[in-house]
Amino acid sequence: MSDAVTPEVGAAFRLMMRQQGLRPEDLIDERGSTSLGEFARASVLPALTAGKRQAWAPYVTVVLKGLADLCACTCARCLSAMNGLGLYGACACVRAGACDCRIQDLAAGGVGVATCLETCPVLGTRELCDVTLAELERVSRWVQMRATKRTLVRNARRARAGRPQFAYDGRSAVEHLRAFLSALYNFAMEDRTTGVTRNLALKMTRYPRPEVQKRSYEADRLEQLWSALYSSGSNDVVLDELIVWFLLETGARRGVLVQIGVGDLLCSSLRVRLHEKKNKVDEQPVTEALMAALLSMALSRGDVLAANPEGLALEEITLEDVRRRRVTLRPDRPVFYYADARTVSRDGATPAREPHPLTVRRFNSLWDRLKRELPWLDEIHGRPHDLRKSVGTSVERVLGHATARAFLRHSAGSVTGTYVAAGPEEAARAHAWLTGVEAEETCAEEW
Ligand SMILES: [Zn+2]
Ligand SMILES: [Zn+2]
Ligand SMILES: [Zn+2]
Repeated sequence: MSDAVTPEVGAAFRLMMRQQGLRPEDLIDERGSTSLGEFARASVLPALTAGKRQAWAPYVTVVLKGLADLCACTCARCLSAMNGLGLYGACACVRAGACDCRIQDLAAGGVGVATCLETCPVLGTRELCDVTLAELERVSRWVQMRATKRTLVRNARRARAGRPQFAYDGRSAVEHLRAFLSALYNFAMEDRTTGVTRNLALKMTRYPRPEVQKRSYEADRLEQLWSALYSSGSNDVVLDELIVWFLLETGARRGVLVQIGVGDLLCSSLRVRLHEKKNKVDEQPVTEALMAALLSMALSRGDVLAANPEGLALEEITLEDVRRRRVTLRPDRPVFYYADARTVSRDGATPAREPHPLTVRRFNSLWDRLKRELPWLDEIHGRPHDLRKSVGTSVERVLGHATARAFLRHSAGSVTGTYVAAGPEEAARAHAWLTGVEAEETCAEEW
């Protein structure tokens, strides 16, 4: 207590302490006795949602362990120790324990070091209370530099193949890092044993989101994209077609396709259940044609039949058979499968290889192929997510913002922060307009 404290204040303070169940030693003893790493492992990571833990994992590692052996130099020799995915080995200088790289190559990394031997600081072993804003910024520069090096490596490879370059300054990496640190400080502030009283991460340099490139495709480009599915040398056109069809008709995120199970196909009501971000589940209308195609994919490639009392042949089973319960399907099986070229049939003629459930890797290879076929797509660095944008833009143009949001299942308050009262009916209306199929009677009156 300082001399300036009056007896009244002192008494009030002691009363408050008693009411809170605090002893004087509580304020002193445990303060600053936790390292950042211990606190993160014991209190922060277990409390994060699975999504955040996954998204932040690379940055958690950097904060706790630094970037051992990663140098900040951008010379060709040092870049050769990187691979394009952000994995790296020690450069020749680090291995030799001496660096003769040019100062401009070192400066281009942006972290302000004069040698390859100086690496990213490790915060995990620092006392949580003692970590400074300068240290957080320092780690942030290193994270940004790693992203920059990765882009340089990718661009060099693309340049050799005559493909357009990426412009990336690592700001989203820094934003992820900042988000993790901010969560860590928030937890620390709510835990009086840490002695942390403010969220230092909030003071870190922020990077505004980059100008969003126009990423919705007009009808002619969508048509080109569609025909490139067939001309780009796909080893599984049926799958690629169904992927793009599904994305276009439902406006779903790509993660949805990987997760969707046979039980999510609501055949009678012509709806699919979509597992969206944050464990949100929504139902979306689909056309009879899409439903039949999804069912056919699941039946022909997956082991999805639970009961088939009438002994129907697989390729004869229709949507109607499922609706009328002539066959029963297993709800826990995936819908989408990647059948490799050798899996030709399941009738025993070819050695049966179990088709693999779809993974997000298929999207990467599909879009890579499309980009090789379509220079404009390569130039704008097109992604599967663009299809969602394209559909959203079309819906918005004709049916308005609220309907577009409902169709894309943006939760209220997200993205733009606008609350929009539009629900399943609007989504159904948007789908009806997109596909030219009236989903419900009530919609027909208005159109
Ligand atoms: Zn170098
Ligand atoms: Zn180096
Ligand atoms: Zn060097």
